[in-house]
Formats: sequence, C-alpha cells, structure tokens
Amino acid sequence: MASASPEEDQSVTEVTDNYETTCWGCGLHILLPSCTSIFKCGWCGAITDQNKKKRDDKCVRWRLLRDRCVLCVVVTFMLLVIFGGVWAIYPIVFSLSLLCGVFHSTIIAILSIATISFFSLAAFRCAGTPPNILWGSYPTVGKGDLENYTFCQYCSKPKSPRAHHCRSCGKCILDMDHHCPFIGNCVGAANHRNFIFFLISAVSSTIYISIMAAYASTRIWPPLKYSVGRPNAMSQQYLAWRVIKEIIFAFLGSALLLSSRGLVLLYLFISSLSLQIGLVVLLWQQLSYIYHGKTYLSNLSSSTDNEEEKKDCQNIVRFFGFQYPATRFLPTFHVVRKRHVK
Ligand SMILES: [Zn+2]
Ligand SMILES: [Zn+2]
Ligand SMILES: [Zn+2]
Repeated sequence: MASASPEEDQSVTEVTDNYETTCWGCGLHILLPSCTSIFKCGWCGAITDQNKKKRDDKCVRWRLLRDRCVLCVVVTFMLLVIFGGVWAIYPIVFSLSLLCGVFHSTIIAILSIATISFFSLAAFRCAGTPPNILWGSYPTVGKGDLENYTFCQYCSKPKSPRAHHCRSCGKCILDMDHHCPFIGNCVGAANHRNFIFFLISAVSSTIYISIMAAYASTRIWPPLKYSVGRPNAMSQQYLAWRVIKEIIFAFLGSALLLSSRGLVLLYLFISSLSLQIGLVVLLWQQLSYIYHGKTYLSNLSSSTDNEEEKKDCQNIVRFFGFQYPATRFLPTFHVVRKRHVK
C-alpha cells in the first residue's frame, strides 16, 4: 500500500512510470506507481481499491421474495405450534388439576409472548446502518477522518471498517454477523441481542413443548397389543428379534388408532425435538463467537489476520448490556487496616 498527503506529493512524483489517481475519501490527487491498485490515503486514511468493480445485482428482488416466503413459513409454523399445543395439551393438563392447568397456561403465555416479541424485534427492526460521515472534499475531510474506511460500490458511500455490505438487504450493516433467511433480515449491531434472546426463548419453548407433548401422548396413547409367543421354544437371538419386531408392530398398530389430538401431539413432539437440535447448535455457536468478542463474519476474516483473541466472560456480560461487571454479585471482603493514632 502506498500513502500520500499534500506534503508528500513531491516525493511520490519522483517515482518513474507512475500515474495520477484520486482518493475517493478526500478527493486529493495522488501519484502512484503503475503496479499499485490498492492504496491508503496518507491524509484521510481512506482505502481505495481500484480493482473493485460494481457487479450487477439482479437477484436482490428474488432474495427479498425468498426471505418473505421463508418468513411467512416460520410465522405460520410458530402459530401452528402455539395453537396446536393449546388445543392438544390443555384438556389433558386441566383434567389433572386446576393448579396444573393454570401453571401450564402461565408458562405457555410467557414463552409464546417472549418468542414472538423477540422474533418480531429481530426480524422487523433495522439491523444497524453505519453513521453518515462527510467525505469527498479536502479540507472538509480532516486528517484521519476516514481511517480504514473503504468505499461501498453498491451504496455509493463510505463503509466503516466495522461494516459489511449485505447483498440480500441491499445496504451496509454495522457489525454484521450474518444474513439470516429465517428472520428475513441481517443480524447486526441493532438487533443481535434480540436475535440471541429469540434463540434462547425458542429453545426454552421447544424443550417445554416436547416434554409436555411426550407426557400428554402417554396419557392418551391406545394400549399396545403384542404377544411374543412361547419364549422357551426359541433361541435367544430369535427371541430378541421377535420382541423388537412385536414392539414396533404394536407401536405402529396403536398409532393407527390415535385420535386427531394424539396425531397433533406426535407432530408437536417430533417437530419441536428436531427444531430444538438445530436451535441449540446455532445458539451455542453464537454464544461462543460472543465469548471470543467476535461476530460470524469477523471470525471468517480474522482467520487470516493475526488478531489477538480476547476470550472473556465479560464479552458476554457486555453484549447483554449489563453496565457493571458480573463480579458485583459476589460477596466482597474489605480488609480494614487499623490506623495507629498517636
Ligand atoms: Zn484521502
Ligand atoms: Zn453498502
Ligand atoms: Zn442482510
């Protein structure tokens, strides 16, 4: 990288076979050797990459349509789970005792409201756009005003070192983590916390639903009918195989006799369990990036840089916005030194 400032122009002109170009940040003319295509301005600090050509982005509309469709499917699925769960589990829980019913209703209300609220905040809130900054003319742009800024070809404005351009959203996002197709939005500085809270409440909801669906199924499942025959007349291997086969057939046979409520419970159990596995993996991955003080994208780019990793639980505390360190909850022991008064 070459750098130039108004004072340094003279020294740069001594290089033979050079060409004149302009810094996009402050508009100063800079003379560079012919082989240089990326340079950092010595005055404003902006990085100009002349190799970057704007690519046509014809797929933006399709990506937007895909995001909207996936969003509709996710919202429908959430509503199906909530209303299906209410319809299938409530009569069984209330038949146990009124206290059980009220307790279950309270838990379901808290989990559904939390999940839908955090989902809406993550999906419909702007993920965080970088602040607008003056650029383009010296001396309006002061020394170091655009330190490490690059120029976004798509937005036609400066892109801060912490911002990334999302081609699905069609704009630059501050502290972008990733573009999530399930919420149809980017996860960035403004909605990252909501996204994590959504994952936590969704994981809690799916765990609770799978347990309740399994419990409710056992109460209404038709009795299993099987006969293994005379065990004495069979070899051990044959007996084990026969038992497994009979259990499977008895299970399938009784599933055919299931009421519509039983089928909904079976569906709720399978779908919430499979969703739970995916969500736990995603949440674990997200929390580990936060613990390392990174985002998914910065983790990808820092694999080539030699950045020092700062693993710290304080990263998680800071992320969730607690103002004071977590150690304030621990008991503190003050050592009182006695002063000798003369
Ligand atoms: Zn400049
Ligand atoms: Zn952009
Ligand atoms: Zn995006």
